[in-house]
Amino acid sequence: MGNPFDLSGRAAIVTGANTGLGQALAVALAQAGADIVAVGRSAMDETRGLVAAAGRRCHAIKADLSTIAPVSAIVEETLATFGRLDILVNNAGIIRRADAVDFTEEDWDAVIDTNLKSVFFLCQAAGRHMLAQGAGKIINIASMLSFQGGIRVPSYTASKSGVAGLTRLLANEWAGRGVNVNAIAPGYFATNNTAALQADETRNRAILERIPAGRWGQPADLGGAAVFLASRASDYVHGHILAVDGGWLAR
Ligand code: NAD
Repeated sequence: MGNPFDLSGRAAIVTGANTGLGQALAVALAQAGADIVAVGRSAMDETRGLVAAAGRRCHAIKADLSTIAPVSAIVEETLATFGRLDILVNNAGIIRRADAVDFTEEDWDAVIDTNLKSVFFLCQAAGRHMLAQGAGKIINIASMLSFQGGIRVPSYTASKSGVAGLTRLLANEWAGRGVNVNAIAPGYFATNNTAALQADETRNRAILERIPAGRWGQPADLGGAAVFLASRASDYVHGHILAVDGGWLAR
């Protein structure tokens, strides 16, 4: 049977792979054997080096996912480069903070367009290819705010709750056709995305007191969940939102 977590010979697209969770996800998939297409707005040099150190190839695609304009080209370029597409990780995302009563349309649209609209259309573009080949793994990055309301982040909560719903919907449509669609819901991880929370002494203390594991997550803590959901080990797992949260939701 071999190692059910082995990703040798697979090709994975990871969006927002230059830093933070996306970089750690790309490196974990590479360490399990996958070649990586690293998609994002910024230079991918560091990620490329880490993937190369794992002995895998990394192809960078510069793309701004605040619109769906680059979506079909990302899938086409992946197929042209590696000749295959097995795994899609929708990680790129943004957050905007303001009281709901003051929240602007710009902050609403920016977050929904990047975190939800582009995620759906990337799933669709990759999904068309995966359905045709009868196999594929899609992993969407959700959030604790796929389960909870949060505070002062209305468009983020709406987008991540939407990502959870979308993950279930796609699983319903595609599970019988060989394509697994699941999500990972990270708890509180130390990245740029949470820099404001980490810097706010009161919020930082309140968050730490509420995490049973007693620490912020480190990006590498997500790797095992991603490899699981990208591999044969999860072939019968569909529409699941896997929390990797130090126990936050158990509290
Ligand atoms: P981050 O800000 O460090 O990284 C976000 C990534 O998304 C970057 O690579 C960035 O370049 C990319 N990105 C943003 N807008 C983009 C655009 N328009 N086009 C292309 N790429 C774009 O944050 P992170 O914490 O690593 O977040 C990664 C994902 O994890 C996000 O979806 C975030 O919502 C989610 N998440 C993070 C946490 C956490 O605690 N850090 C918790 C739950 C969910």
